[in-house]
Amino acid sequence: TDGMQRPDRTRVMVVANQKGGVGKTTTTVNLAAALGQLGQRVLVIDLDPQGNASTALAVDHHRGVPSTYDMLVDGSTLAEVATESEELANLWVVPATIDLAGAEIELVSVVARESRLHKAIHGHPLVGSLADVGEDRFDYVLIDCPPSLGLLTLNALVAGEEMLIPIQAEYYALEGLGQLLETVDMVKQHLNSRLTVSTILITMYDARTRLAAGVADEVREHFGDTVLKTSIPRSVRVSEAPSYGQTVITYDPVSPGALSYLEAAREIATRGIKA
Ligand code: ADP
Ligand code: MG
Repeated sequence: TDGMQRPDRTRVMVVANQKGGVGKTTTTVNLAAALGQLGQRVLVIDLDPQGNASTALAVDHHRGVPSTYDMLVDGSTLAEVATESEELANLWVVPATIDLAGAEIELVSVVARESRLHKAIHGHPLVGSLADVGEDRFDYVLIDCPPSLGLLTLNALVAGEEMLIPIQAEYYALEGLGQLLETVDMVKQHLNSRLTVSTILITMYDARTRLAAGVADEVREHFGDTVLKTSIPRSVRVSEAPSYGQTVITYDPVSPGALSYLEAAREIATRGIKA
C-alpha cells in the first residue's frame, strides 16, 4: 500500500448503466481490488442476479449462501451477508445468488421497497465516519447494478451518494444515457437528494481507432470534469481474469488494464466526495 488517505466517511458508490456489457462489473471488481491494494477497506455488493461480480471475486454464490437477496427481501443485516475475500486484501463481498432474479417482483409488496438497501448499508456498524466508527470502518461500498432501471437499481440509487457510470467507447455510447440521467433526477427529487453523478469512466477504449477517440471526446465535452482522466483500455487480460476467479489487478498486475484501474482508483480517492 502507498498510505493513501482514507475518506472522512464511507463513500457509497453505485456503478450503474442500464446498458449491458459496458463494463459495470469489470469496473466494480477491479476498482475494488485496486482500492483494497491501496489500503482502503472496500465492500462490494453484487446487485445483479447474474452474480458476475461474485464470480470474478471468487466468492461462493450458490443458492443458499447468505446473499444480497436475503438482505433485500428477508431483512437480513448487511453484517450477516457480507463475507471477507480470501484472495484479496481489505475486501468484503455480498454475493448475488440466482434468487435475486425474483427479488424485483417480490419486493413490490414489501414496505419501503426502494429503501431496503439504504437501510441495510447505513445500519451497518462499520459504515460512517472514521471518528464515529473507528479504524475498521469501510472506506468504500461499491454496488454493481444489473443492466436495467428496475427496483434493484433503484435501491442502489437510494442507498448511494455517488454514482459511477461506465461508458463504453463505442458508437452507441451515449444512447440511453438520457434515460439514465432522467432516472437520477427523479431519484434526487423524490427519494435521495444527496445523489450525484460523481464519476464517469470510459471503458474498453481502443486507442487505435478514431471512433473510440471521437466517442471519448464527445463524452468529455458533455460531462467535463466528471469524466476520469484515466480511461480503461480494451485488453484481453481484463476479460480473461474472471475465468480464473481473479481480477486483472492480481491476474496480471503490470498489464495496461491493471495499471489503468489502479490509476482510476487513485484518481477517485484523491478527488474525494464532491460537494
Ligand atoms: P456489464 O457489467 O456492464 O454488463 P461487463 O463488465 O460484464 O459489463 O463487461 C462486458 C464484457 O466486456 C465482459 O465480457 C468483460 O470481460 C469485457 N470487458 C470489460 N472491460 C473490458 C476491457 N477493458 N477490455 C476487454 N474486455 C473487457
Ligand atoms: Mg454486470
